[in-house]
Amino acid sequence: MKFRAAYLLLLAASLLLLSGCYTVPETGRSSFIIPIGDDVALGTAAFADIKAKEKISTDPAANERVRRIGQRIAAAVGDALPGAKWEFVVFDAPETVNAFALPGGKVGIYTGLLKLADSDDEIAIVMGHEIGHVTARHGAERMSQGLMVAVGGVILDSATSGKKNHDLLLAGYGLASTGGILAFSRKHESESDYIGIRYAAKAGYDPRAAVTFWRKMAKASSPSKMPAFLSTHPSHERRIADLQGWMAQTLPIYEAAKLRYR
Ligand SMILES: [Zn+2]
Repeated sequence: MKFRAAYLLLLAASLLLLSGCYTVPETGRSSFIIPIGDDVALGTAAFADIKAKEKISTDPAANERVRRIGQRIAAAVGDALPGAKWEFVVFDAPETVNAFALPGGKVGIYTGLLKLADSDDEIAIVMGHEIGHVTARHGAERMSQGLMVAVGGVILDSATSGKKNHDLLLAGYGLASTGGILAFSRKHESESDYIGIRYAAKAGYDPRAAVTFWRKMAKASSPSKMPAFLSTHPSHERRIADLQGWMAQTLPIYEAAKLRYR
């Protein structure tokens, strides 16, 4: 048992040595990332998989629209996404109100979401948000945290096995780490909201569309009133209040960029 714990401590220490700090674009936040895999290769493979499984829209107008908006957002992202080979694909699923972005600059958007969005500005807001998760490397950060939590759990298990309160300690650790990961997800959502409206504004899209779009999403989603501290998503009210708070600094960026896209 002692040897195992020592070995795991060594493993945890080497993971920490391997890990690095990543500076999140737009916010400047330092995040902790263990290099587990090649983000770009993983994202590209996953996107190929999704394209093979889902129905790709053949509507030329929808594809052209999404590509045009996407390319402007990609220009706003600039070199914040090294190695990106941008691709914007519309998936034909009228009931699916969703969009996603993967490392490598792969963006998917469902026709259900296009139906709900009233303007290019709203589509740009959603794309900006999804791309924000990627440039901020939220996936890698979450995996890194998950790995440290798992190693920590095993170390605690080894170190306390056979001792009094062993199960209680482990249960407490489980609860604390679950709470931590949930708070983390909410932080990621909010950070992507912020990054997303900045990308949209820099691409010449109206950041105020974030407020109208999330209001509409709030109406469309189930009326469940889960307290914010239990959910992975910030409450709609919280999210809208945050977005409104960021307008004063984002609107001038939009006004300036708009002129370039006249
Ligand atoms: Zn998100």
